[in-house]
Amino acid sequence: MVKINDNYLKLPGSYLFSTIGKKVNEFAAANPDKKIIRLGIGDVTQPLTPAITDALHKAVDEMGHAETFRGYAPDLGYDFLRKAIAENDYEARGCDIGMDEIFVSDGAKCDSGNIQEIFATGNIIAVCDPVYPVYVDSNVMAGRGGSYSEITEGFSDIIYMPCTKENDFAPQLPEKTPDIIYLCFPNNPTGAIITKEELQKWVDYANEHGSVIIYDAAYEAYIRTEGIPHSIYECDGAKTCAIELHSFSKNAGFTGVRLGYTVVPKELKRDGVSLHTLWARRHSTKYNGAPYIVQRAGEAVYSEAGKKEIKGLVDHYMRNAAYILNGLKEAGYSVSGGTDAPYIWLKTPGEMTGWEFFDHLLNNANVVGTPGSGFGPHGEGYFRLTAFGSYENTVEAVDRIKKL
Ligand SMILES: *Cc1c(COP(=O)(O)O)cnc(C)c1O
Repeated sequence: MVKINDNYLKLPGSYLFSTIGKKVNEFAAANPDKKIIRLGIGDVTQPLTPAITDALHKAVDEMGHAETFRGYAPDLGYDFLRKAIAENDYEARGCDIGMDEIFVSDGAKCDSGNIQEIFATGNIIAVCDPVYPVYVDSNVMAGRGGSYSEITEGFSDIIYMPCTKENDFAPQLPEKTPDIIYLCFPNNPTGAIITKEELQKWVDYANEHGSVIIYDAAYEAYIRTEGIPHSIYECDGAKTCAIELHSFSKNAGFTGVRLGYTVVPKELKRDGVSLHTLWARRHSTKYNGAPYIVQRAGEAVYSEAGKKEIKGLVDHYMRNAAYILNGLKEAGYSVSGGTDAPYIWLKTPGEMTGWEFFDHLLNNANVVGTPGSGFGPHGEGYFRLTAFGSYENTVEAVDRIKKL
C-alpha cells in the first residue's frame, strides 16, 4: 500500500486567498453597481516591453529552422544569459560571482521551494515573520516543521523571527542557532529593506555558526535608497555562507513567462561537501526549466533598450507605491515600506484585526487588500497593499480610503 507524505497534511491550507476570493465575490454579487479596486494582487500587470517581445519573436523563428534549432538547454543555462547576469548583477556591483556559479531556472518560487532538498531533514530553519510563505511551506512538506499550533499559528520546530513596528521590521539574530536562515530583502510583504551593515552581521553570524543563508533578492530592482545592498555578495564572506535567489518576474514582468536564477558559490561547503555540486543534481538539471526562447528574453533584459524599458516598468509601480504611501500617511495611517519595494505595510487602526480592516475597506471603500496574518503570526494587526495596479485605479482607491 502506498503511504502518503503526511507532512503535506500539516499545512493549514490556502485559507487566506480563498477567503479573500469568497468575500470579494459575495460583495460583488450583492453590489453590482460598485467598482471594486484590487490593491491586493501579488502579480504584475504591465505588459512585456518591446525589447523582450522582439527577443522572444526572434528566438521563436530560430527554433523553426534546422540550423538554429535548439534542444535541451545546457545544465546551468545558456552562456549568453549567465554571462549577462554575471556582468550586470554582480561584476558591476563589485561582487565576485562567476557565470559558472549561476544556475538559470524557471523562477524563484520553484528554486526557493526546492533548495531545501540539498539539506538534511533535521536542520532547523529560521524565517522572518511575516514573510513570503514558500519557505515555511516547503520545509513543512519536507518534514522540518514539527507540529502546527492553532494558538501560535506557527510550527513548533521553526524559528520565527518577528519583524514588527517595534524593531523597524528588521529581524534580530535568534537566540537558538538556526541551520538555515531565510532572508528576503526588500521584503514581501513588509517592503522593509536591510542596510549593508545589518546584512553583514547575518553573514558573520552564519560563517561563525556554520549556518547557511538563503537570500531572496526577488525585489532587488525596486531598491532606490543609496547604499542598500542589491545582493548579499556585496558583504564580505558571503560566498562561504549564502545562496541567493533571483527572479525576472517582478522587475521585467516575467510572472507568466517564467525565468529566474540561483547563485550557489563554489566555495560554499558544509560537511566537507560543496553545495554547488549538490544543487547541480537538482531535479531540473538539463531541462533546467527555462526554454531557449525564454533565456533569450532574459538576455534582452540586460540590453541597453531592455534596461531602459525595465526601469520604466519599475518606475511605474513605484509611482503607485509613492501615491499609496503618501496618501495613507496624510490620512493618518501608520505605514511603512513602499520606498524600495512595491508593497505598503499598514498598521490596522485601533485594535482592528487584519480581517476586520479587510471588511472595512471592502464594504466602505470597495478596495481589496491582504490581511497581514496570511504571511505569518506576527503579520496580525497589519495589512498589505500592493503597487501593481494601474495608476488611475491606485489613485482612485487611495482617494476613497482617504475619505473614510
Ligand atoms: C514573487 C516572489 C517570488 C517568485 O518569483 P517567481 O520567479 O515568479 O517564481 C519569489 N520570492 C518572493 C519574495 C516573491 O514575492
